[in-house]
Amino acid sequence: MSNLDLETHSINVKCPKCSRIVSETIKHLKNNPVTYCNTCNDSFDVQEEDINKGIDRISATIASLKESLKKGW
Ligand SMILES: [Zn+2]
Repeated sequence: MSNLDLETHSINVKCPKCSRIVSETIKHLKNNPVTYCNTCNDSFDVQEEDINKGIDRISATIASLKESLKKGW
């Protein structure tokens, strides 16, 4: 099923300590820009820049999805 709700999408952010990629939803990051790394067993701040980059990417994906839906695939 297509998901056109931006906030329910996840973006990948990198842990500043171990460089592990952690997936977190936009909804969560907007409310609280902190996420948890299972490798470090510690939470870290997500940079606003990274959140905005992720939002831009997902917005583009959603926009192209909507285009596809308009065309009826
Ligand atoms: Zn880590």
